[in-house]
Formats: sequence, structure tokens, C-alpha cells
Amino acid sequence: RAKEGGRNQVQFYEPAMHARIVERAAIENELRGALARGEMFLVYQPKMNVATGEISGVEALLRWQHPTMGLIPPGRFIGVAEETGLIVALGRWVIRTACAQNKAWQDAGLKPLRVAVNVSARQFRDKGLADEVVEALRSTGLQAQHLELELTESMMMQNADEAVATVQRLKKVGVGVSIDDFGTGYSSLAYLKLFPIDYLKIDQSFVRDMLGDPTVAAIVRSVISLGHSLDFRIIAEGVESEGQLAYLQRYNCDEAQGFHLSKPITPEAFAALLQQEQSRQPALRPANETRG
Ligand code: C2E
Ligand code: MG
Ligand code: MG
Ligand code: MG
Repeated sequence: RAKEGGRNQVQFYEPAMHARIVERAAIENELRGALARGEMFLVYQPKMNVATGEISGVEALLRWQHPTMGLIPPGRFIGVAEETGLIVALGRWVIRTACAQNKAWQDAGLKPLRVAVNVSARQFRDKGLADEVVEALRSTGLQAQHLELELTESMMMQNADEAVATVQRLKKVGVGVSIDDFGTGYSSLAYLKLFPIDYLKIDQSFVRDMLGDPTVAAIVRSVISLGHSLDFRIIAEGVESEGQLAYLQRYNCDEAQGFHLSKPITPEAFAALLQQEQSRQPALRPANETRG
């Protein structure tokens, strides 16, 4: 019986594990040619100025449309790209494409905004990152102030001296720097102040739980107020409801991003949204200011 139980257990776990290994191998194989085959593209999620309701920026998010595996989200391939080193070429493509897209929006007469690009740990450690950024700006004609790089706390915590030097180099180029998923990585605001960082993005897990959990709400409020006193601008990620947006507005969060405002959309749809705003119709949905 024990033996049978053991065998059942093996049968229970093995197919799932096997499937995962097969999927990973397939992703690794297919990832090698994906860029060259034109299967990668970027979608863009607006950020909103909480006080004014205006679109204040946009984040580029990578998507992979595979002919047979379908649409693959970054969570399923960024890790593989990191492990195999494919992230180097992919990351360079993302930066250039986002810069070119932002320049194209500006050339079409839309209001100038900052485009944010996610940087992976390996890209950040790479000595050539700042040079790559300079080259992407030069070749696309985008001004440095219209590009922002999203880093993570863990990047700041490994090799602190080198990390400070890298962030300083990026700031010297003139691009904005933000910390993504803030609150998930055990760094303190005091520590992050050692880096010339512009924005903190409060992780979506806090935003999701803040209205139902007073402790989480207290954390969010204190990140906003302490962050402000240290001269960071604060963005809330993953805003999915009017109530969350109203709460963030009440506690002076600077910017918000999330499905309640807009999902990540195509460049054409984003241009249409900005156009709509410029014709003085609020494009996103600012929180209702008349509340109790
Ligand atoms: P992230 O940078 O924190 O991006 C936010 C993620 O949350 C995105 O998922 C976005 O679609 C999703 N999101 C936005 N609003 C909401 C909301 O209201 N509710 C919920 N539940 N989710 C929301 P996505 O596009 O699947 O990206 C996942 C992660 O993959 C990103 O997290 C980022 O760390 C990474 N990633 C995306 N694009 C790139 C890239 O070009 N390079 C690198 N290195 N990483 C990328
Ligand atoms: Mg991000
Ligand atoms: Mg992230
Ligand atoms: Mg995030």
C-alpha cells in the first residue's frame, strides 16, 4: 500500500513537472529566433497623473506572439531569456523600439511623454547599458528626458557600489530612473535614497490589498508620505477600481497605472487615447472627487 501510495505520488507530480520541463525547452528553442522572425512586439500602458487625471507617461511591456504557442506573456519567457543570455539582444530591441515609438508619437503631434522600459537584472549588470541607452536615443532622435528605465530593489542591493555607479551613469545621460515593484524586495527608503532615483512604483500587491487590510493601507500611506519627504515621486501599480484610485488620490499619490485606467494597448490605441485627451475629453477616468 505504501509502495502504491508512493507510486501514485510520483504519477501525480511527474506529468506536471514533465510538462514544465518540456515547455521551458520549447520556449528556449523558440526564443532564439523569435526576434528575427518578428514575433516580438510592445504594448503600452498609460500612467495617469492622479491630481489632474491627465496621461502622464506610458510603460512599454513586451509581448511574444508565437505562431503555434500563441500569445506568450513576459512572465513565461523573461526568466528563460535571462538564463540563456538572449535578454541582451531582446532588451536592446525593447529600448530601441520604445524610443522609436515615443519619437513617432511626438512627430505625429502628440504631447511629449516619458516612455518607461523594464530593465532585467542581467541588462543592469551589463557594463554597456548606459552606452546602449545613448545609442538608442541617438539613433531614434528621442530626448533623454523622454525615456525612463524601471529597475528593481534587488538590483540596487547586489553590488551596491557598482549599482550606484550604474544609476549615476544613467542619470548623467539624462534618463529617468524608477524602482518597480517597490515593497517586495526588502530595501528601505533610506537605503534607496543613496541612489539618484526619480520614481517609486508601489507594487500591485499592496494596491490590491490596501482597501481590505488596514496594515497594508498604512504601508501605502507611509510609502507615499515618507517617499515624498525623501523627494521621490510615487506611482501606484495595479489600480483596478475607482475606490483604490480615490484612496490614492486622498493620500496624494502622484501617479497611477492599472486596468481601471487602461490595460496595456497597441501604439495606435495609445495614440488615439492621447488624441482624445488633447481634444479636451478626459481619456482616462480620474477618481470622482465628490465623496464622503
Ligand atoms: P511590471 O513591470 O511590474 O509590469 C506590470 C505588470 O502588471 C504587467 O504585466 C501589466 O500588464 C500588469 N498590470 C497592469 N495593470 C494591472 C492591473 O490593474 N492588475 C493586474 N493584475 N495587473 C496589471 P506583464 O505585461 O505581463 O508583465 C509582467 C512583468 O514582466 C513586468 O512587470 C516586468 O517585470 C516584466 N516585463 C515586461 N516587459 C518587459 C521587458 O520588456 N523587459 C523586461 N526585462 N521585463 C519585462
Ligand atoms: Mg514595470
Ligand atoms: Mg517589474
Ligand atoms: Mg511592477
